[in-house]
Amino acid sequence: MSEAKPPSHLRCETCEYLELHDNNEGNCHRYPPVFIENSHWKFPHVSIHHWCGEHVPVSVD
Ligand code: SF4
Repeated sequence: MSEAKPPSHLRCETCEYLELHDNNEGNCHRYPPVFIENSHWKFPHVSIHHWCGEHVPVSVD
């Protein structure tokens, strides 16, 4: 069974909450950081190609 193609309009690369670290990935700041055991507080690490239903389009001010 093939995986469904992500909806392009909901990708992290066009989301207000993405803090980009390089050309392909960054952290999602939609919610507060979470504690990772044996580590520290972190925002979720995402690829620009990921997506989710909380997407907010980047505003053009
Ligand atoms: S995970 Fe969702 S809310 Fe976070 S940057 Fe990606 S699309 Fe935006």
